[in-house]
Amino acid sequence: MRCANCGNEDPETLWDEGETIYCSSCTHRTRKTDYEDDSVQCPYCHRMRDKSAMYCRHCNASDWNPSTPSEFEEIDNILNGIGY
Ligand SMILES: [Zn+2]
Ligand SMILES: [Zn+2]
Repeated sequence: MRCANCGNEDPETLWDEGETIYCSSCTHRTRKTDYEDDSVQCPYCHRMRDKSAMYCRHCNASDWNPSTPSEFEEIDNILNGIGY
């Protein structure tokens, strides 16, 4: 098992979830079918977001509606400020 995002191969921090492998080191999931990162870009804050998670862990958006340019500018400033 190997994390597609950070290259982690430590079985202590990789979790076999059936179709995906969860890496607790970087919180990304890797698909077993093609060994690609299973994260998708959040349409609101444009950060990488877990496809199966209810909320985006960066901007807390619970839907998949894209942000307007001014909304994106606002959330981007906030997230940059806290290091995302
Ligand atoms: Zn990882
Ligand atoms: Zn987001």
